[in-house]
Parts: sequence; C-alpha cells; structure tokens
Amino acid sequence: MAKTISIAIDGPAGAGKSTIAKRLAKELGFYYVDTGAIYRTVAYFLDLLGVSPKDADGVHRYIDELNIDIYYDETGLQHMLMNGIDVTNDIRTPDISQKASLVSAHGEVREMLLDMQRDVAKENNVIMDGRDIGTVVLPRADVKIFLTASAEVRAQRRFAELQAKGAKDTYAQVLKDLQQRDYQDSHREIAPLKQARDAVKVDTSDLDIDGVVAAIRQIVAQKVGI
Ligand code: C5P
Repeated sequence: MAKTISIAIDGPAGAGKSTIAKRLAKELGFYYVDTGAIYRTVAYFLDLLGVSPKDADGVHRYIDELNIDIYYDETGLQHMLMNGIDVTNDIRTPDISQKASLVSAHGEVREMLLDMQRDVAKENNVIMDGRDIGTVVLPRADVKIFLTASAEVRAQRRFAELQAKGAKDTYAQVLKDLQQRDYQDSHREIAPLKQARDAVKVDTSDLDIDGVVAAIRQIVAQKVGI
C-alpha cells in the first residue's frame, strides 16, 4: 500500500479547526476527519439513554451497545451514524459540546475510538482535527498544526455561529462554556489537549480564514512538498 499523508490539526474549541481543515481538505483532495464529531456521537448516545457523562459505571455498562460509523457524502461532508441513525446535525448543540467534553475524559471511551481514527488515516490522505491527534492518535503525522486564538475571539466566533442558527445563547454564556471546556479538555488525565512538541503553532486571533489557510498551506508545502 502506498504511504498516505496525514495532517493533524489540534487546538481548543472555536480556534477555527473545522473551517480551516475543510478548506484545506478540498484544496488538497484529502479526507477531512472531524474527530470531535465522534466524541459528540458518544455523548449524544449516552444522553438519549439518560446516562450522565460523568458516570463511569454507566458509560461502561452501555458503551458496547453503541456502533459508530462515519461516511462521506458526495460534497465531502462527514456524516455520523449512531447505530445506523444519522445524527450529524443532532450532535451540534452547546449541551452536547459540554457532554462530549466530559465523556471524552473516560479512558474506556478514548481507547474504543482510537483504532477507528487510525484506520481512516492508514487508508487515506487525511486532515484530522481534534485535541490529541498530533500527540496520541497520529504521533507520526507528516504535518502537525496547533491552532489557537484568544478565548474572547473564539467565543465571538461561536456566538456568531449560534446566532446564525437562531440559538438564544448569550455571548457571556458562550464564553463561560468555552472556558470550562478548555479547562476540562486540557486538565484531563488521558490525552489532554496540548501542543505536540513538533507541532507548529498558528494563532488565528488576528487572521481571517484566507490568511490562516495560506499560512498552513505554506507549512504543508515546506514539510511534505505538496
Ligand atoms: O471539536 P469538538 O468541539 O467538536 O469536540 C467536542 C469535544 O470532544 C471536545 O471538547 C473534547 O473534549 C472532545 N474531543 C477529544 N479529542 C478529540 C476531539 C474532541 O477529547 N480528538
């Protein structure tokens, strides 16, 4: 099998990872793998069963009953299937964001999802985004980017997204949720959010989308010559 290329993009919520990764994937003809969506699907499943994301026993009892599949439609959009049901849109709520952050702290959950993520990268050229891609999932990724921005800028972006969807959340609430998630994600024991030693940090606070894409394209060109 020919060697595949993998690009890992990690960083806190709202740094622009998915927007940037989608654009780059299109330009390079790579698959875009949104690993946050996988954790969100686990959180959504447990939530439907009424299991608290903090309840390790409950997670352990039900996790084997969850079957997750990923497929890509003709536009390249990643769909999440929870036991055969398409939950791609259902998992995009602030409530599920928080629950995904809590559920992702369980070692059992992370372990279960590891091979699934690695398998996609074994067979395809990928741009994978998440929190632990460069540190744990694909430690030998060809390119590693740590994408970040100030909490205020990230909250402002999230707030605008939610408003466009007609959600009622206030900016203050969005900022508070985001800071709580940052704290949880970077302080958990297993695979915490942190910059890999060999990752290039890109701060998007003062850059627009085109600027960030151009900066990362340059890094990719330098590292892998594409
Ligand atoms: O990226 P997104 O905001 O959709 O991720 C939801 C949550 O899933 C994160 O807050 C984080 O706790 C968890 N996650 C993770 N590891 C990843 C991707 C997401 O722990 N690789």
